[in-house]
Amino acid sequence: MLAPNSERERLPDCVGCRKPLFVGDMGFAYEDELCCAECAPTYEQAKAEWEEQKDEPQDNPEAYAEFCKAYDAHIAAGGKPSDQCVTVL
Ligand SMILES: [Zn+2]
Repeated sequence: MLAPNSERERLPDCVGCRKPLFVGDMGFAYEDELCCAECAPTYEQAKAEWEEQKDEPQDNPEAYAEFCKAYDAHIAAGGKPSDQCVTVL
């Protein structure tokens, strides 16, 4: 059981709906932006975003590698590309 919001560390608000987010919530992290679980993209959408930027200089090439690993692990675990890409923040 999670501690009440007042006792958890506050994170930046969701970029989609401005909902306050806290450490331990489910959501999606993209560089320094966070989305709540409802606004999180699907694996498919996140992959497409990454692939669009593939030819541009990357500030953070490790982040793409990390994402690919997470994507493959999700599929290997029986997940679908249309599932939302959420992790514990
Ligand atoms: Zn949201």
